[in-house]
Amino acid sequence: MQARSRTIRQEEAYVVMDKHRRIGVVGSGTMGNGIAQVLAQAGYPVLMMDTSPEALDRAAGTIQKSLERLVKKGTLGAEQVSVILERIGRTTKPEAFHDAQVVIEAVPEESSLKKEVFRILDENAGSDCILASNTSSIPITELAAVTKRPDRVIGMHFMNPVPVMTLVEIIRGHATSDGTAAAIETLTRELGKNPVTVQDYPGFISNRVLMPMINEAVFCLMEGIASRDDIDTVMKLGMNHPMGPLTLADFIGLDVCLHIMEVLHAGLGDDKYRPCPLLRRMVQAGHLGRKTGRGFYAYAG
Ligand code: NAD
Repeated sequence: MQARSRTIRQEEAYVVMDKHRRIGVVGSGTMGNGIAQVLAQAGYPVLMMDTSPEALDRAAGTIQKSLERLVKKGTLGAEQVSVILERIGRTTKPEAFHDAQVVIEAVPEESSLKKEVFRILDENAGSDCILASNTSSIPITELAAVTKRPDRVIGMHFMNPVPVMTLVEIIRGHATSDGTAAAIETLTRELGKNPVTVQDYPGFISNRVLMPMINEAVFCLMEGIASRDDIDTVMKLGMNHPMGPLTLADFIGLDVCLHIMEVLHAGLGDDKYRPCPLLRRMVQAGHLGRKTGRGFYAYAG
């Protein structure tokens, strides 16, 4: 009985986030710089780490522009911009995370790369530090297993663009402790976002539901059931979706959509998740959506 109450007290201690203790962000690309921005806006000292100094410089520029947009919109005081920017440090060295309370990883979606990053973080961050991943599809349990602190590893899946989207999926790995989950839920709410806790199964909730819908829309196009525009119109006007599934696929990247369908298919072992052959063919052709100027639609510039 005594041992149990001690455990609960220790776990409760994690729930209190320390506004003076740094939060690390690894990878300063699309997601990483957005995550650093919202942490700094919430008052946390932030340390962004990237292997590329140029990426760190670009990230700082992106954050500044994003904050200036908020000033123009009237949602942030002009005097706040420099205060927020000063909270964000930059480094190329993981040793700098020795005193961080949480480190959020946002490096590219490659399992071997993320495992290497988690090994390095486990060596460099203090033993009480929580290691979170922004992965869209890699099992948290697998990342946790390369560390000596699987109870302090968790998924924190932000949506793009981070400063705008208010959902964060919190993914509990096989060994994630209640204290770790509670701390990350607290942090998420402090960022003005809504945490939704999910278990560690392929695609979590967001991609498990979204990607099969996109894949089915591509099947409809391949089978000639309706035109590209009509498929998107049905979902926009009929279901009140802000954009049709084929437009959304172009926005996300067709390679990303294919990769996630493959993760669902392999991880859940059900043929209902088989990627549509047309999706595969478009990726083979290099028509990846907006980022290559061509996907289901063509994009100027
Ligand atoms: P990105 O390519 O824009 O940025 C990745 C950054 O990581 C780059 O700046 C790169 O230099 C850096 N990096 C690479 N190796 C590193 C290392 N070993 N250590 C430190 N930094 C390293 O990628 P992104 O789109 O921001 O995606 C990051 C993660 O977020 C992925 O897991 C992705 O699945 C997930 N995610 C992306 C989106 C999205 O819409 N882009 C949405 C939700 C989740």
